[in-house]
Amino acid sequence: MNRRSFTGALTAATALLSIPIVSCAAGNNTGSKNFALQKSEDEWRKLLSPAQFSILRKEGTEPPHSSPLDKVKEAGTFVCAGCALPLFHTQAKYDSGTGWPSFWQPIEDNSVATKKDYKLILPRTEYHCSRCGGHQGHIFDDGPKPTGLRYCNNGLALNFIPEGEALPELLT
Ligand SMILES: [Zn+2]
Repeated sequence: MNRRSFTGALTAATALLSIPIVSCAAGNNTGSKNFALQKSEDEWRKLLSPAQFSILRKEGTEPPHSSPLDKVKEAGTFVCAGCALPLFHTQAKYDSGTGWPSFWQPIEDNSVATKKDYKLILPRTEYHCSRCGGHQGHIFDDGPKPTGLRYCNNGLALNFIPEGEALPELLT
């Protein structure tokens, strides 16, 4: 697939879902935008493990097949490991074979927000928690129906709450 058709397909797919595209200059800090939850880098360092901080606040990526959440199939909710905002339900989870938890749709279109990521030669669509700005993963257009999208998520950026258990309170 060439670059033009890839980005074209992704743009069309995201437009279809009404996902707001936030244009940003290349960079790795999503913390400075107008997110509902604002915390300093030092505050996040205290709240998160070093590995979680690297992913959520510095757009790091965990090794594939490293997260037990990749194998979760039971019903429940995946919440942001930073602020506890519910982001995905198991109903929209599938085994992509990539070694990262993969979903074809977030709980709400506005659960996550996106921006272009130019770290690799091919631009990718980065997505993050819409409440705290914590980086979650990247969206690709090779997912299953009905959306055709693959939300490729870092397991360390999520916590899984099985159905029937109370969801954690949002971090304030
Ligand atoms: Zn969050």
